[in-house]
Amino acid sequence: MKKNIQIGILLMALVAGLSSWGFLVHRTVNQLAVYGLPKKMQAFFYTHMDSLVYNAPRPDQRRNVDPAEGNKHFLDGEYYGDHAFDIIPHKWEDAVAKYTADTLKKYGTLPYVVVETQQKLTEAFRKGNKDSIIFYATDLGHYIGDAHVPLHTSINYDGQLTNQQGLHDLWETTIPETELAGFAIKSRHKAQYLPSVENAIWSILKHTHSLLPVMFATEKEVSKNFTDTARKYRWEFRWGKNRRFYSKEFATAFHKALKGSVDEQLIRSANALSDFWYTAWVNAGRPDLSSLVAQPYKKKQFRMERKAYRKNQLIEKGWLISNNFRTRD
Ligand SMILES: [Zn+2]
Repeated sequence: MKKNIQIGILLMALVAGLSSWGFLVHRTVNQLAVYGLPKKMQAFFYTHMDSLVYNAPRPDQRRNVDPAEGNKHFLDGEYYGDHAFDIIPHKWEDAVAKYTADTLKKYGTLPYVVVETQQKLTEAFRKGNKDSIIFYATDLGHYIGDAHVPLHTSINYDGQLTNQQGLHDLWETTIPETELAGFAIKSRHKAQYLPSVENAIWSILKHTHSLLPVMFATEKEVSKNFTDTARKYRWEFRWGKNRRFYSKEFATAFHKALKGSVDEQLIRSANALSDFWYTAWVNAGRPDLSSLVAQPYKKKQFRMERKAYRKNQLIEKGWLISNNFRTRD
């Protein structure tokens, strides 16, 4: 079973290309969130971890077949002015009344999709439907991951308005792929109950959006040391055409100059995801999940992994699932 899933990961990564946080980070977030869960949720999530991890990029893949999927992954804050995340109504109906559904869809519906997916997860817990719990928990992880990517909150989503094209891939794919070994992949977070899921996701987005000015300015700053464009960029044949990306050398310098904000966002995503999963379970009435646990449950291994995560040792122990099946580096 495990082997099939591993081969599946490899094939999927080969055929689908990379977008959004990239396969690597979306999968990492879904794995790490499991370690923050309380005891009564651990066995269920840990014994279904392969599926949670493997399918983490699924909402991005849905974009190819579902035209309604695309706008679920972002919110272009600037369209709504300087205080977008304070003035846009948190409830969909109120937002529609203020801006119309067409406008909201055009500039991205990410926070509403998080709330909707959260509700579906809660319902799945209530019904004790194993497959639905795994499905919505996985998708929720994806959208929460996206909500932590600064460029997913901006109309200047690829740096295209400031002559910084390629910033999107640089921040969320090239940096994680190049720098993962040096990332601080550690947290002692324990899932917290969220009294308001709406408020939680909107405050996440507000924080994520606040990282943009430093990101854009840092790119300009680092570029001063890369006046030779042959050093600054690389060309790669991807998605059927030769495309320009920032070089790995630039990615390393940029990551260093950002002082760990990429890995910090990765950990924040995982911590938040634990909170959202836990909140859905509590809101469903804390159902007993023991009959849904897949066997065998290797409790000792779970504890060792969680301990390794607390000490930033998951990679060196070989327990970071996404890192074991990388198809590009
Ligand atoms: Zn996405």
